[in-house]
Amino acid sequence: MSSVNGIRKSGKKAKGRAELQRYRQGKRLTRQESIAAHCYDCTGGYVDGIEPCQNADCALHPYHPYQDRKKGRL
Ligand code: SF4
Repeated sequence: MSSVNGIRKSGKKAKGRAELQRYRQGKRLTRQESIAAHCYDCTGGYVDGIEPCQNADCALHPYHPYQDRKKGRL
């Protein structure tokens, strides 16, 4: 997803979508908003569904917006 319009047209409504749009419009994000935006982008807008990330090797994994906090680190 490379543009704000691309996100509006094809991006799934999920955590990080609005933040990514705002960032690409030149707005400033908090650290957590930036992580949510990055995870949204990384998953292609959660095209495969909204689920906890399975990539425990990623440094952002503990902060993934849909992380299952009960399970802790996967
Ligand atoms: S935590 Fe998962 S979704 Fe988020 S950036 Fe890392 S690999 Fe991508």
